[in-house]
Amino acid sequence: GEVPVRAAVPQAGEPGLVLLRRVGVVDPASLDEYRAAGGYAALRRAFELGPGGVIREVLEAGLVGRGGAAFPTGRKWEATARQFDRPHYLVCNADESEPGTFKDRVLMEGDPYALVEAMTVAGYATGCARGYLYIRGEYPRAIRRLEHAIATARARGLLGEDILGQGFAFDIEIRRGAGAYICGEETAIFNSIEGYRGEPRSKPPFPVEKGLFGKPTVVNNVETLVNVLPILEGGAAAYAAVGTGGSTGTKLFCVSGTVRRPGIYELPFGATLGDLLTLAGGATGTLRAVLLGGAAGAFVRADELDIPLTFEGTRAAGATLGSGVILVLDDTVELPPFLLRIAEFFRDESCGQCVPCRVGTVRQEEALHRLSRRRSAGDLVVLREVGQAMRDASICGLGQTAWNAVESAIDRLGVFAEEAS
Ligand code: NAD
Ligand code: SF4
Repeated sequence: GEVPVRAAVPQAGEPGLVLLRRVGVVDPASLDEYRAAGGYAALRRAFELGPGGVIREVLEAGLVGRGGAAFPTGRKWEATARQFDRPHYLVCNADESEPGTFKDRVLMEGDPYALVEAMTVAGYATGCARGYLYIRGEYPRAIRRLEHAIATARARGLLGEDILGQGFAFDIEIRRGAGAYICGEETAIFNSIEGYRGEPRSKPPFPVEKGLFGKPTVVNNVETLVNVLPILEGGAAAYAAVGTGGSTGTKLFCVSGTVRRPGIYELPFGATLGDLLTLAGGATGTLRAVLLGGAAGAFVRADELDIPLTFEGTRAAGATLGSGVILVLDDTVELPPFLLRIAEFFRDESCGQCVPCRVGTVRQEEALHRLSRRRSAGDLVVLREVGQAMRDASICGLGQTAWNAVESAIDRLGVFAEEAS
């Protein structure tokens, strides 16, 4: 079914929809409608600025990655562009699999040409002739619409050997994931595209130096790339005027759980969690907690709604914005089974390559099972030791974050505390 798309009511002086402005308005199958609604103005501007000028705009805009890690996009682009080793590759990470995340799906289904244009701009800026769009297989509608958008863009000279007669060659190939969460990890994507098991590689070297097929590679999330269009259309200064110093522009939030109006919300960075919950009509029952940032994120309490929804604000509050997951839990939700579901997810999705995560996710789930039946201080100690080992010694983000939500439920929400002895 369709994901409800809901915009914030803009305050005076604030932007309306930026990233979602065409979603639900423009026919996603029509390149003509896309162009009539401002499409391909950003690519024309990119050709005027030249690759270095585009990177400067992205740096000055302060754009940081929207996949969850918030790394500065301009720095990634700059680092790839300056590599002598050729070819360079672009990978769009569309393997959106974090539980509670569905924003990239809405962008790809509702405005597929925007992603095609943004990938072309990114390829131009970073010296890539080829882009791979790695998309989760569970998004068949997005895949169909992107296949159509790529084919029509190619037929109209917007992809291919000589884009817009500017002598720039770039094309996009779609690769489908096959259901593994770990294949969204950027280096596991490389292995998957190259035909190997979807296992992460150790970093460094970072992909900007040695990525797909061992070549310099830019990996960007869908939402990150789509942000490049308003940066070029309106200029870096106008873009950076929205949001806060550390989090510029607008953000898509995925609101789900026991909430009155679930859906995708686009807000300028800086609104509080409470503001967003008010827009979403509040929790269905009495609010118990909110899981911020998904299964790899952290719970916050009902009395912490003044947390600003910015990368720096959530970090200061000991939480994370991640990819924009706002999972609402009211008082009908039993927390221990919810935590068990998260632990089961990580145990299931661990690729098994490294011991701390392969064994730790199993031990975490076992301890939670025991704690759900009988509270025990010993099992809380086991959880903490296993969690710390996973965080410190796992190869990739999956293992490093597999204990985050459980830890925050124990420390912030007091789960299992009252009866442990
Ligand atoms: P990371 O911090 O290791 O890296 C972030 C990005 O910055 C990567 O592209 C990395 O290559 C780059 N980078 C970091 N240091 C660099 C350097 N010195 N030079 C050049 N590039 C550098 O994080 P990660 O493991 O890629 O991602 C973790 C995040 O992914 C978590 O925040 C999690 O919430 C999120 N996540 C999102 C989804 C989703 O569906 N959107 C799913 C799972 C995880
Ligand atoms: Fe695989 Fe987990 Fe190790 Fe990542 S941390 S490489 S998912 S076993």
